[in-house]
Amino acid sequence: MSVPEIIPAPDMTTDELVALLTRANEAYRTGNPIIDDDTFDHIYLAELKKREPEHPYLDQVQPDTVGAGSSKIRHTEPMLSTDKAYNQEEVTAFVVRVQKAADAQEIPSADIRFRITPKLDGMAARYSDGILATRGNGQLGNDITRNIKRGLVMLEGEKAGVRENTGVGEIVIPEQYFNDVLADSFSHPRNFVTGLIGADNLSEEAKEAMQDGAVQFVPYSGLKASECDVEDLLADAEGLCEKIEKACIYPLDGSVIDVLNLELRIEMGATNHHHNWQIAKKSKGVTAVAEIEGITWRTGRTRRITPVLNVKTINLSGADISNVTGHNAGNVKNLNVGVGAHIEIVRSGEVIPKLLGVVKPGKDADIPDLCPACKAPAKMEKDFLVCQGETCVAQIEAQLQHFFNTLGNIDLFGPSTINTLVENDIRDLAAIYKLQASDFEGMGFGPKQSTNLVAQLERSRSEEVEDWRLLAAFGIHHLGKGDAKKLLAVYKLEALDQLTSEQLIEIPGFGEITAESIPKSIALHWLAMKTIIDLGFNLRKEEKFDVTESVITDQFIVFTGAMQSSRDDMKAAAQRLGANVQSAVNKKTNYLVIGEKVGAKKIEKAESLGTKVVTEAEYLVMIGAES
Ligand SMILES: [Zn+2]
Repeated sequence: MSVPEIIPAPDMTTDELVALLTRANEAYRTGNPIIDDDTFDHIYLAELKKREPEHPYLDQVQPDTVGAGSSKIRHTEPMLSTDKAYNQEEVTAFVVRVQKAADAQEIPSADIRFRITPKLDGMAARYSDGILATRGNGQLGNDITRNIKRGLVMLEGEKAGVRENTGVGEIVIPEQYFNDVLADSFSHPRNFVTGLIGADNLSEEAKEAMQDGAVQFVPYSGLKASECDVEDLLADAEGLCEKIEKACIYPLDGSVIDVLNLELRIEMGATNHHHNWQIAKKSKGVTAVAEIEGITWRTGRTRRITPVLNVKTINLSGADISNVTGHNAGNVKNLNVGVGAHIEIVRSGEVIPKLLGVVKPGKDADIPDLCPACKAPAKMEKDFLVCQGETCVAQIEAQLQHFFNTLGNIDLFGPSTINTLVENDIRDLAAIYKLQASDFEGMGFGPKQSTNLVAQLERSRSEEVEDWRLLAAFGIHHLGKGDAKKLLAVYKLEALDQLTSEQLIEIPGFGEITAESIPKSIALHWLAMKTIIDLGFNLRKEEKFDVTESVITDQFIVFTGAMQSSRDDMKAAAQRLGANVQSAVNKKTNYLVIGEKVGAKKIEKAESLGTKVVTEAEYLVMIGAES
């Protein structure tokens, strides 16, 4: 369920497009990208720019949420994004805009100077007055200073001849270190960095990287840059950028081109999103041509059957490549990328390279009629080949696998075990947890293995596990481990069926889209979730606060009307006393606490549902805050 359905950009409504961009950006900033940079920029963002160049989405800095929960730091100057150029034409258009501004200032074109700096592909941050902060929403960032104590290396730059490690920069890992030490376990250095900077507890790999001095804050002023003029840029922007990029030891995704003339910067100014005197020339990634030897089809969790192009192994920027994603069946069909075809592929940071185009078509690709996982008929739906099986085996197996992987305290339930279970019609968790050793033996597992499988199921319930892991294991869309943790710091797992969008959006880190969808998905799956929760797992609740037992512990409470104290403080206090604070009365509500100016209808409704209505003063006496 957590794999997003991605529709081709032109088929999306503008709202869908913006929703996808927002979601993809949120995922990217927290280190769990759902689409790669190239697709984000060149397909989805490009589609929005083409369709609605004035769309408000394009005029705001997309927030990052790394370090959310720590204190907020207001940036002395806004930390803006950078507008992008993908090719020479777009750089030329930028140069023309600069020339226009120079004309207005009566600055001769020959006097305009530019600087080219590598654009590091890490996590943007700013260091000043001893505080390191994320970009956040551009105005307010999060304090991530504690990472310096944890081993983050602060490199120096140079400004006006003075060595300093302050200013705007990126937190990155040298490419070589990533390739040597981390590439087997992580898909991209940026994901690794954003993950560890925001993490409360460092993973083993993160601790090691910190100890090795590999995680570094690099101020942009500390990078080797080059200068050029209008003529240079118009002649060969790409070549100039490539030269400076080659000398850089950090992962990067292009170069930043700045205007150096101060009076021109002032003339050109900024939008809410970016400085007009600056542009990022994105690099295209390394390409190569490979020959197709076959196509493997795989059914995913969404029942879409996607092609993997198996190519004669070639080396591309240091990695041996034998598989290339073919995106979707429509693509494979239209491009004739069957056996023997020569295709151009690109690899830009990601481990699995992508198909760029066809150099020489091959035989017609065979599109399968049947789902490779469940053998149900497969049908083309627009560009996608979709399994028509009501309950596709691939989807069920992937969900079960996700549950056990996420729970993380159970062995032996890998793909082959799960495959055997599903083939024997054991298709949900409740059924799996009921299995006895004799049942496993009946499916062909050996006697010893059967006993072990039962012991592992028992272990997964008796061994302590964090409650947020269990929640994330259900695979609710938008509710991964990080968000599950944030959610359960405030609300109880057993009461999540009461969760509303309004409550969710008040928790830092949840956006409008996720706040809208999570309660709906929970409601849809609650019965199945509750059955599993009730199996009696040994759950550890990670408390943000110590709950004090009181008369309102486990009670459902709604606060309404104008209160003497701040309503937010009252809610927080109630939560510390173990209450479930709701935003509106329903039949579960035990108490409605009313301030001033509460309509009679509201009170009537609460009473008709059996809710006890108390005034603020009565409530304070009840919880022992006042006598
Ligand atoms: Zn299927």
